[in-house]
Amino acid sequence: MIQPEKEVSIAPFTYYKIGGVASEVYFPENTAEMLELLQKLTSRGTKYFILGGGTNVLVGDGYWDGAVIITTRINHFAARNDQLICGSGLESSRAAEIGLEHAMSGLEFLYKLPGSIGGALAGNARFDNKNITDALISVFAVHSKHGMKRFMASDLDFSYKHLMIVHEGWIICELSLAWEEGDVDVIGKRMNEIEQFRNVNHHFDFPSCGCVFKNDYKNNIQAGWLIDSLGLKGMKIGGAEVAPFHANFIINTGNATARDVQNLIGQIEQIVLEKTGITLEREIRLYGNF
Ligand SMILES: Cc1cc2nc3c(=O)[nH]c(=O)nc-3n(C[C@H](O)[C@H](O)[C@H](O)COP(=O)(O)OP(=O)(O)OC[C@H]3O[C@@H](n4cnc5c(N)ncnc54)[C@H](O)[C@@H]3O)c2cc1C
Repeated sequence: MIQPEKEVSIAPFTYYKIGGVASEVYFPENTAEMLELLQKLTSRGTKYFILGGGTNVLVGDGYWDGAVIITTRINHFAARNDQLICGSGLESSRAAEIGLEHAMSGLEFLYKLPGSIGGALAGNARFDNKNITDALISVFAVHSKHGMKRFMASDLDFSYKHLMIVHEGWIICELSLAWEEGDVDVIGKRMNEIEQFRNVNHHFDFPSCGCVFKNDYKNNIQAGWLIDSLGLKGMKIGGAEVAPFHANFIINTGNATARDVQNLIGQIEQIVLEKTGITLEREIRLYGNF
């Protein structure tokens, strides 16, 4: 049985560099280990949460008297003619690089997307007008009660930033993404453009979680635009600040606590509601003990 690391600070496992100490941290290396672990934690009644790259979460500053499962060691991959099979802990950006190495096109949009491919699927990540579910062929996942199961993309319930099986308690262990033969120069050029876009737009200048709030595509409302229109860029609580370069990013300027970020999120939500009547929906997930 996989053994935990004990009394581990979670901050280094998050892009925010924020988070308290957890009683137990597990790094399963494959699907069988993940299932065994889940069943053990469930039968023991141990509470847990899952992290991939920790790039879309805020973990509380307090002591987490439970387990954290980190997927980054499930990082195998296999390049096939029509698809890339990836362990859920593989970095999303690496999937795009593997495409380039094999002259296969379709995964460029994942280049420089922070975090793991499993985390990207869990939140149906998108960039360049493409959702990861647009490329999805199948998912292999585990559940403490239902065991292991392969889901075909056509059987899944997903929408913008949402994948139903994750809300039902399934943990993604492996997924297959479609690709097709492409021209290395064209693929490389697109990846360079994406990298430049993210650099020019300061995405990697500070620790953050990317976008805090979801956009409302039905009503054509971009959360960042809405927050900016109310003059909230630069608003600060402690070390947390609404990014001057992107109103939907809350950055850690150096010494932010989870409470700072949480309070700033709350203030933005309150101001937006009072001034516009709109209730913002969070993209960021909060875990641990606040
Ligand atoms: C600078 C920056 C830019 C970003 N740009 C974008 C962007 O352009 N588009 C976009 O969509 N997002 C963006 N994000 C957000 C983030 O990168 C993505 O959501 C990313 O795909 C999350 O992956 P992760 O492994 O870090 O997930 P985590 O943050 O570790 O987890 C996110 C959620 O998924 C769950 N989860 C993680 N792995 C699994 C698994 N294997 N099985 C089940 N559940 C799991 C976690 O429990 C949690 O609820 C950005 C973030 C940053 C910091």
